[in-house]
Amino acid sequence: MNRHNSRPVVLCLSGHDPSGGAGLQADIEALIAQGCHAAPTVTALTVQDTVDVTDFRVLDREWVLAQAHAVIADLPIAAVKLGMLGSVEMVETVLEIMQKLPGVPLVCDPVLRAGGGGTLGKDEVGYAMRERLFPVATIATPNLPEAQILAELPNGTADECAEKLLPYVHNLLITGGHGDEEEVVNRLYCRDGSQHSFSCARLPGSYHGSGCTLASALSGRLALGENMVSAVKTALDYTWRCLRDAEAPGHGQYIPRRL
Ligand code: PLP
Repeated sequence: MNRHNSRPVVLCLSGHDPSGGAGLQADIEALIAQGCHAAPTVTALTVQDTVDVTDFRVLDREWVLAQAHAVIADLPIAAVKLGMLGSVEMVETVLEIMQKLPGVPLVCDPVLRAGGGGTLGKDEVGYAMRERLFPVATIATPNLPEAQILAELPNGTADECAEKLLPYVHNLLITGGHGDEEEVVNRLYCRDGSQHSFSCARLPGSYHGSGCTLASALSGRLALGENMVSAVKTALDYTWRCLRDAEAPGHGQYIPRRL
């Protein structure tokens, strides 16, 4: 037993994906790979395979509060990672939980759609995240289609979306994986005006849980004390390797291999 040399604990508030490709399982695997311990609080259950989601159920707010409060009372939380919240009420519930964790880095992955396109929450949930959670988040990590919904700019470029969203959040990472250009460009926008681009080669295929992997790895890097730009680069490089080594066990998308 080692009480004095424990790995940093990251509280994950995300949905469960029974295919194991995305959601809390992705969070747990990506955090273990960073040398962190994941404390998974379930916000929602989903029905899905690696092709798409067919249904979901958001848990009662009391259940989510009880899970999170039990963990917070026991474990030293070094960072928080948000994934699927599923309802506007859950956005408010998370805000209540964060009041118990002042100063703890918060990574907000504004999940609204599954990889196959099925909904995991109405656009209103995204707007509530933008209004209520972005201001308390350390960083938000939308992909470009999510950023376009959040910025209410259906055809906006990453730069245009960032201009609209940066007043809400301190740091914004807009990922470019959903386009079809040969080179994927991921852009980090910081409120101090600095911008950083991270490019990588596009890999063939589509992946289930890539956004969850990235946001979780990033929360782990921040929990370990890495600075923002370095943490983003490390998390992007890690995610790229997981996608390069992905497996196709089913009939749908590839599942990242999060070693
Ligand atoms: N969270 C849950 C519970 C999901 O089921 C999904 C997708 O199916 C996601 C998050 C988002 O997945 P991705 O990382 O592919 O954007």
